[in-house]
Amino acid sequence: MTRPSRAAVLLFAAALVAAPAWSAGTEQAAPAVDPAVLARIRDAALSSDWAYQRLSDLTDKIGPRLSGSPQAEAAVTQVAAALQAAGLSVTLQPAKVPHWVRGEEQAELVDYPGRPEGLTQQLRLTTLGGSVATPKKGITAPVLVVHSFDDLKAHAAEAKGRIVLFDKAFDQDLASNGQAMAAYIQAVAYRVQGASAAARVGAVAALIRSVGGADFRLPHTGVMRYEDDVPKIPTAALTAEDAMLVGRLAAQGPVSLHLTLTPQTLPDADSYNVLADLPGSDKPDEVVLVSGHLDSWDLAQGAIDDGAGVTAAMGAVQLLKSLGLQAHRTIRVVAWMNEENGSGGSKAYFAANKDKLAQQIAVIESDSGAGKPLGVIASVTPDSLAKLAPVTAALQPIGATALERRDGEVGADIAPLQEAGVPGFAPMVDTREYFFYHHTAADTLDKVKPEYLRRQVATMAVLAYYLAQMPEPLARVQAEK
Ligand SMILES: [Zn+2]
Repeated sequence: MTRPSRAAVLLFAAALVAAPAWSAGTEQAAPAVDPAVLARIRDAALSSDWAYQRLSDLTDKIGPRLSGSPQAEAAVTQVAAALQAAGLSVTLQPAKVPHWVRGEEQAELVDYPGRPEGLTQQLRLTTLGGSVATPKKGITAPVLVVHSFDDLKAHAAEAKGRIVLFDKAFDQDLASNGQAMAAYIQAVAYRVQGASAAARVGAVAALIRSVGGADFRLPHTGVMRYEDDVPKIPTAALTAEDAMLVGRLAAQGPVSLHLTLTPQTLPDADSYNVLADLPGSDKPDEVVLVSGHLDSWDLAQGAIDDGAGVTAAMGAVQLLKSLGLQAHRTIRVVAWMNEENGSGGSKAYFAANKDKLAQQIAVIESDSGAGKPLGVIASVTPDSLAKLAPVTAALQPIGATALERRDGEVGADIAPLQEAGVPGFAPMVDTREYFFYHHTAADTLDKVKPEYLRRQVATMAVLAYYLAQMPEPLARVQAEK
């Protein structure tokens, strides 16, 4: 059985008196974590806008927060101050991060079948994070449109000297049916690997169709990676509409583009994860981590990616502190730096804790937006799942009752800890419209419904408290092979 903390006894004396006392002789053991406390946490979350206020500060007062930028540094300062003011014990954990800066970006159709004399057409695009630049005056080259890596291989002989366009549509039907991450993974391969695949067959630049499910003619940025053994060529994402336009024209005959991209990669910068602890009452060295990432892309405020996630995590721990609750174990907020383009923060945390991984009891990350919370995703052993029933029972009044076990990573920043066997969690939220706005200029505060953010705080606070208060930690997870 478990012993409530002193604070919990004081606050919830009435509830505890009403609950049946456990003893060896009674037929039913009292729950290991008091359901009345979990209900109290949930209800308090639903009446607090602390997280939404922090999200407003982060988005409206600072804006885009790409790693290495002055805005990212301002976010570190702002969030650390807010957590300090909430009475938590704050640490800045140093992390080296890439420093990539967007430049000019222009694409123009300069030749195509049926082009009226003297006319050109501007395309909408965004440079992919990490891309090298074209020459200042740009490049002009014929376009090769392909629909997959296999298609590129089949047309490899035609790629030399051309701009390859990967016209791969995002499967919004899949996303609309609750499989947004599967849709993302299918399409994002071209964003990450497209440039090197195109360079390998002699292309001079690579374009992709934006990885997103809406038809707002918005380009979606995101990270790309160069392989070491091929030349680095410039790369950008066209809007889905403009990729389709190029595809239609290319089906009629030769198409040429003028492309200008002038991003810069500066030396790596010094930055920080923000850590804030609510110390455990009697197992303070054991840590339950609740987190989101502080950095964002540079096109918008990063409200859904991942302002909502990081402020929900902050709100969960602020809430427990404000209720005077102290679990057996320490609950630690982490506002990760550099999830988007390098995972410098994640690597720094893992390096700092690699000799005490046994003390990392559970890790939670929210990085799937601010849709309606539906429950909890748990990367735990099959036997552990039933032990989480009190969490979804407490969330029943807000409908966040789904409990889904998944193998493998459930958050990019917590992935190294999960690989080391630490049970990993993420709030399950409605992601059907997440990829409408993801990594676009439209990822702004108005996309976040305050009520859903409150519910996400409720979900993360109940889950974090429960994991920190369970008498025995959940079993470690064997790495998937
Ligand atoms: Zn994110």
